[in-house]
Amino acid sequence: MIMDGKSVAKKIRQDIKQEISGMKVKPGLAVVQVGDNAASNVYIRLKEKACKEVGIDLRLVKLQESVPEERLLADIEKLNDDDRIHGMLVQLPLPKHINVERVLSAVDPDKDVDGFNPVNVGLLAVGEPRFVPATPKGVMRLLDEYKIPIEGRNAVVVGRSNIVGKPLAAMLLARHATVTICHSRTKDLVEVTKRADILAVAVGRPGMIKKEHVKKGAVVVDVGITEVDGNLKGDVAFDEVEPIASHITPVPGGVGPMTIAMLLESTKEAAK
Ligand code: NDP
Repeated sequence: MIMDGKSVAKKIRQDIKQEISGMKVKPGLAVVQVGDNAASNVYIRLKEKACKEVGIDLRLVKLQESVPEERLLADIEKLNDDDRIHGMLVQLPLPKHINVERVLSAVDPDKDVDGFNPVNVGLLAVGEPRFVPATPKGVMRLLDEYKIPIEGRNAVVVGRSNIVGKPLAAMLLARHATVTICHSRTKDLVEVTKRADILAVAVGRPGMIKKEHVKKGAVVVDVGITEVDGNLKGDVAFDEVEPIASHITPVPGGVGPMTIAMLLESTKEAAK
């Protein structure tokens, strides 16, 4: 079965819109962008469109590529103190002269809808999540929408980034899966992924997961997005894995739309 993130996300956006229409305060989301990264521009445009549709005020704070770190931190501080801003995110990647950890730590944990402030990372790690990163949150919601059992199952996460792999592993663990995390130094990837009942891949290498990596009947979640010749490709070789998987996400139309829907949801929650 194809896990249709696009349709699920649409339904979630409709519910959010409905809820926001009954709220006294209009949720406000600040997006801080440094420089003019082409991919970031695309992601921000998608966020703007989605926010407008559900009734969230998105304020884009766009700073020059050369902005000094202190100025960026001062702008974040202003947004922390701004009552009309309930959620805030700093679009990554940041230019090399900026200390990413310092910047992410500066976002008020109560407005940190991306869940990248170490306070929120820590709360997830101790099993008391507040704001969590949107992509792994979207993966979990998609698994729940398709009623995939998680407790006691072998979950393998390929990729250990702070944005996807690590928080996803923490969320699966919190739901009592037996979790294995793979990365670039993992020896014999096939042997590990073959044991997965739930296989989630967030690497950024198009088509790297082939049928020999996947157990028959496994649930396969493809987080990867890479542009190849003008088309978006996932990390899973969809055509050969789909026939043996019980459930699989397509790229595009799988995890991507869920990510944006979860950002909207976290912003609405921050405002509430
Ligand atoms: P990163 O580059 O930060 O992390 C990639 C991870 O993959 C690393 O942990 C790396 O290991 C691991 N890796 C690299 N090569 C291999 C290999 N041969 N075998 C096993 N593991 C390997 O990427 P992100 O987590 O930020 O993103 C991953 C993918 O997900 C990208 O395609 C990105 O575009 C996509 N993405 C999609 C989103 C969505 O909304 N759908 C949102 C965010 C990301 P190591 O740590 O050892 O280097």
